[in-house]
Amino acid sequence: MIATRARKNGTLFYELHCIACGKVVREQESSTRCPACRQPLSVRYDYNFIRSRLNRYSLRTSPVKALKYLDFYPLLNLDLVVSMNEGGTPLYQCTRLAERLSLRRLYIKNEGANPTGVFKDRGSLVELTKVKEQGAKAVCVASTGNMAASVAAYASMAGVACYVLIPEGTALGKLAQALSYGARLLQVRGTYNDAARLTEEMSVRHGFYLAGDYAFRAEGQKSQAFEIVEQLDWKAPAAVIVPMGCGTNLAAIWKGFKEFYELGLIDRLPRMIGVQADGCAPIVAAFQQGATQVDAVEKPFTVCTALAAGNPLDATKALTALRESGGCGVILTDAEILEAQQRLAHLESIFVEPAGAVPIAALQTLATSGRVRPDETIVCVATGNGLKDPRAALRVLPSPATIEPTMAEVEKFLRLRLYEIRAAAAKDGGRGLFAQIPSQRAVVETVRQELGVKLTAEYAHRVTSLVADFVQKGKTITKADLQYIVENVLKGLSGQALILEVEDFQVTTSLKGKSEAKVWVRFDRDRVQATAMGVGPVDAVVNALKSAAESRGKLFFELVDYQVQINSAGTDASVEASITMKDASNTRVVATGTSPDIIVASVSAFVDGYNVLWSRQKA
Ligand SMILES: *Cc1c(COP(=O)(O)O)cnc(C)c1O
Ligand SMILES: [Zn+2]
Repeated sequence: MIATRARKNGTLFYELHCIACGKVVREQESSTRCPACRQPLSVRYDYNFIRSRLNRYSLRTSPVKALKYLDFYPLLNLDLVVSMNEGGTPLYQCTRLAERLSLRRLYIKNEGANPTGVFKDRGSLVELTKVKEQGAKAVCVASTGNMAASVAAYASMAGVACYVLIPEGTALGKLAQALSYGARLLQVRGTYNDAARLTEEMSVRHGFYLAGDYAFRAEGQKSQAFEIVEQLDWKAPAAVIVPMGCGTNLAAIWKGFKEFYELGLIDRLPRMIGVQADGCAPIVAAFQQGATQVDAVEKPFTVCTALAAGNPLDATKALTALRESGGCGVILTDAEILEAQQRLAHLESIFVEPAGAVPIAALQTLATSGRVRPDETIVCVATGNGLKDPRAALRVLPSPATIEPTMAEVEKFLRLRLYEIRAAAAKDGGRGLFAQIPSQRAVVETVRQELGVKLTAEYAHRVTSLVADFVQKGKTITKADLQYIVENVLKGLSGQALILEVEDFQVTTSLKGKSEAKVWVRFDRDRVQATAMGVGPVDAVVNALKSAAESRGKLFFELVDYQVQINSAGTDASVEASITMKDASNTRVVATGTSPDIIVASVSAFVDGYNVLWSRQKA
């Protein structure tokens, strides 16, 4: 027996219609775009039907979660519901953050608490249930990461195959999630919109159900509005601030408020405020120009990868929501967003991915310009969990010191107040700190001012000599560079006598041939010279160092891993090389070196690692 929901006369209690030409579309025909004009569809209900079935008592008394609003979803067969108990996310009152901004009633809806860490799970609940109703065997979806993870999780629950196309360079957490849930994943050398175009074609050619920011998903995501109303004791807030990528979510939340209003569950509507990053802000730009259509952004670039939709599918719906609600749009820089991400974590202990911090970042300018007022109830939607994209956060965080396992080193950490180091790389951008080789005094003073760390003489010397190396190579030292240098010096906290030191090296390399390196080192104060070849200059130098070390030392070691990270933009960026090596007893050491020169960075990492391994073996 199939539990179908229908009106008395057997017709559906909802219909899909095109938001542009108004055409009513049967869902078997399309639930994505209008077959006539290709514009997005939207779901319209028979609200009398919903009203007649609504159990207001149970609505008011049952626990908050997405599944309690089944009456508001366009579902026909409730036996097929695909759910992971999504929604019911906390609405925190943020008193510490509010105080800083002189606001009185500031709330955060923490959507990172959903099963896959993002609000999209609410949409997946409805969308994948529709997939089951329609009997599809596979879904395909384009995504910047979160949609992929969410759809993959729900597809797996539903027992259907899931094909995912994501742009290359998708945040690590999201990639790992999607793959773990069993998605058949393809990375596209291109933008999200390239992936979206291919996915649509894939669905047509292969008959896969096209999942994504379409009408059914929006129906699920509107439950954020329902929950906010419930959690504010059945009142709508004055303003709701939402980050916008495709604009689907903001429009969905607005639809949710309007439906509760229509049913008499609230007596006023909030203003919707949409926020984008300046590397991809087509919707806010159109809003500010009074346009009804967006100019697509060809190459979106922002730390908020979840918002990097250059040609947003639901721009029209989002623009309508902003205008109908009397809201507005805000554009922010990546630096402002990363700063807000840190502030939110510090003050309220809510760790979000960059896109999730966007509403918080907008608060200051909204308050200053009077677009939100101190006595209003304001809700920020923190859309996604911070663990999705840890690298984004680490961009502005110090890399912690690594110590030998002795209490003396712990004491040193506390005395030097190393925990004070706070990266402000994002903020101060490329401002150079030293025009010429500075004195040790100047370095100590700058480190204290810029990083809050008081260098003792034993470290000041090494920091100064590294700074001098940088300046000599013609590199501007930014605050970020200085931080990496200081961190690196302080990482080798122990300050023991070094067994291996490099005096100089020379490399020749060319496009076709192998590289050759010559090194001059001091091993236990003896001068040693060695030559070696390698596939590239770094390889050649490391091989030469290895051979120099092996000619004297009795230390067996093996290189296990080698990684290079570039800490800032440009070809004169400072490079951080990280080498992992281990000895015969499997003792592992990870050592890093920093320099504007990739070879120098690698050499210093190697030397560091070797010295640590050596002292370990002595101990
Ligand atoms: C998808 C997503 C957004 C953007 O939502 P749209 O519906 O595309 O506007 C914002 N934040 C996070 C974390 C997301 O995953
Ligand atoms: Zn149409």
